[in-house]
Amino acid sequence: MTPSIANSDTDAPVSRAAAVASRLVELGARYDAAPVFPIESMRCLASAGLHRDFASPASGGIAFADTSTKYRTLMDVLRIVGRADLSLGRLYEGHVNALALFEWFASPEQAARLQRDLEAGAFYGVWATEPLPGVRIEARDGGERVLKGSKSFASGAGGLAWAIVTAQPAQGPRQLVIAPADDAERADVSQWRVRGMRATSSGLYDLTGLRIDDIDLLGLPGDYDRDPRFTTGAWRFVAVQLGGIEALLIETRLAMSEVARGDPLQRAKFAECVAATRTAYLWVRECAARAARDDADGPAFARMTRGIVERAGLDVMELAARIVGTRSAMDGQRIDKITRDLSLYLRQAGPDYARDQAALAWLDHDAWGDEDRLW
Ligand SMILES: Cc1cc2nc3c(=O)[nH]c(=O)nc-3n(C[C@H](O)[C@H](O)[C@H](O)COP(=O)(O)OP(=O)(O)OC[C@H]3O[C@@H](n4cnc5c(N)ncnc54)[C@H](O)[C@@H]3O)c2cc1C
Repeated sequence: MTPSIANSDTDAPVSRAAAVASRLVELGARYDAAPVFPIESMRCLASAGLHRDFASPASGGIAFADTSTKYRTLMDVLRIVGRADLSLGRLYEGHVNALALFEWFASPEQAARLQRDLEAGAFYGVWATEPLPGVRIEARDGGERVLKGSKSFASGAGGLAWAIVTAQPAQGPRQLVIAPADDAERADVSQWRVRGMRATSSGLYDLTGLRIDDIDLLGLPGDYDRDPRFTTGAWRFVAVQLGGIEALLIETRLAMSEVARGDPLQRAKFAECVAATRTAYLWVRECAARAARDDADGPAFARMTRGIVERAGLDVMELAARIVGTRSAMDGQRIDKITRDLSLYLRQAGPDYARDQAALAWLDHDAWGDEDRLW
């Protein structure tokens, strides 16, 4: 069972997420065994209202007191969903990323469009990764615009209702475009034969020929890549990954035999698991707090946090296997599924580059504040 991390009755999304967590665990195991887009898990999130909570109030979301409260709540919901099923966590994180992009860039008409979609239980993704030459916006005779090209690693390809995709106009920086994502003919998930994260269905999606109207253009060219929001936005996926690491810690505690509990060497390994997991938690929490206030150092924090969470995940995976033994690798065991999922999900783009950029930022100045006053 996944324990609740709801702290207060007023924390409605967290309580609702905790209430559906054990069902998501059950469904997650099924979708891992027979991988398809996890429609029942998505419906479970939607019936708990979690697909709408973090939209802007203009699109029917909760009017949180402030962004800090919103992000703190979202962090816990991402952890809970990630604890239950990392594939679902990836899909849900893409959806809340899309909600944020709408909040920042949508016109009133687009905000209303999102509200209608959410009322219908629709989920969004954000697809930026692409094989060369990438997705372009092409002008046709008569002023018509169409997309040309494909996305890769497109989580939920053919299963989500909509995706916000990046596309290259003839000139200038890339533009966000709202595109239908549910056309099975355009999706190719045949190559998504993976050790973990199977139910994300992260395949290719061909956007060629899709017509774009003004209502489909979200924000202005260059908006998506604007920092600090773009880079600091990594806080959301590390929160999901953290949930997976926490789940591994929980399962390790449950699976640890009496003999192992009585042995100081095994207990030392468990202590390392706790330290790694909670260290990751503290970094993710700090990162979310920085994101909430659009902190100029948010990008450095997010880049460093990616590496911290990656290291914690790798350590806890190894320690869990050494504490629990062969059972950790057996089909149907939660530890096996979480380890397979995490081992893939931790592979995010340019990991060494990310840490190096954080190092460069912090060689230039202190990011924890008041360095002078501390001495
Ligand atoms: C489960 C899953 C779901 C995903 N869903 C989506 C999605 O919905 N939308 C989306 O847009 N993307 C998605 N992605 C893609 C993701 O955002 C990354 O693009 C992807 O994980 C990077 O994969 P890669 O390891 O092949 O990266 P690459 O960037 O190709 O890196 C491979 C390796 O090359 C080296 N390397 C890379 N860049 C550099 C560099 N600049 N300098 C030096 N060395 C370098 C590193 O050693 C790195 O580990 C998903 C990925 C996964 C795993």
